[in-house]
Amino acid sequence: MVGNLFLQNILRAYFPGYSSKHGLPLKHLKAADALMSCRTEEQGHSLYVCPEDNTPLQINHSCRHRSCPACAARKQAQWLNQQQQKLLPCGHSHMVFTLPTNINCFGNTILRGLARPYSGLVRRPCWNC
Ligand SMILES: [Zn+2]
Repeated sequence: MVGNLFLQNILRAYFPGYSSKHGLPLKHLKAADALMSCRTEEQGHSLYVCPEDNTPLQINHSCRHRSCPACAARKQAQWLNQQQQKLLPCGHSHMVFTLPTNINCFGNTILRGLARPYSGLVRRPCWNC
C-alpha cells in the first residue's frame, strides 16, 4: 500500500504535465488515471455501518488495474507462490530458449543432445542424494 501511495503521489504531481507535453497511447493514459484514482473517492466507495453502534465506515474502491501495485500485489504474490512450488528443492538452472523457425524441426534432436550430459542428474536427482 505504501508503494502505491508513493507512486500515486508521483503520478498526481507529475503525470498531468508530462502527458500534456508527450503524446501517450490511450492505454497508458487509462493506466495512469486508474493508478492516480485508486482507493479514492473518484473510484466510488462502499459504506458499511456497524450493527451495534451504527458507526459508519467508508471503503473507497480500488482500480483493479494490472499495473497498480496495490491491486496487483495479491495476484503477484499468488503467482510467485505458484512458481516457487514448481521449483526443484535444490539449486538448479532453468533454461529457456527459442529456436529459429528454419531449424525448429531439429529441436528434439538438439534437446536430446543437450540433455545427454545432464541425464545422470535426471536419473539421480540431487534431492535423493
Ligand atoms: Zn489500484
